[in-house]
Amino acid sequence: MYHLRPHHLLCIQHYVGRGYDEAFTQHMNQVTESLKQHPEQQIQIHEGCDELCTACPNREGDSCNSPDKVNNMDEAVRTLCKIQTGDVFTWEVVKDLAKKILLNGSFEKVCGNCNWYELCKSVRHGFFAD
Ligand code: SF4
Ligand code: SF4
Repeated sequence: MYHLRPHHLLCIQHYVGRGYDEAFTQHMNQVTESLKQHPEQQIQIHEGCDELCTACPNREGDSCNSPDKVNNMDEAVRTLCKIQTGDVFTWEVVKDLAKKILLNGSFEKVCGNCNWYELCKSVRHGFFAD
């Protein structure tokens, strides 16, 4: 079971093979492929560094090196999706919960300060086509 921090529910669905470095991207490839192949698998909503952070060059010990930025995004997703730390969902259920963020026009509010925002905005069309 993957443990995922809330805003990563969006990052996974916008992933198009680009990441911080080779190790991060390889790990993202594994996780996203696993979720795609087995959407019935369970994930648990996590606080702080999660599965995706394990291979990230921006992780420093148990924390992201931009804690305020990512914590704010996590909080926004938790609130908008009405999810809490420790909740367990199948991937197919929680990914649709996160999709509602885009459908209600909150994407820029949640993700607008992220360095990847322009890229993710450009792949939104594919996101809606799922
Ligand atoms: S803009 Fe940033 S936080 Fe939002 S989905 Fe993309 S990578 Fe994730
Ligand atoms: S360490 Fe920070 S930048 Fe890296 S995946 Fe985790 S939250 Fe994102």
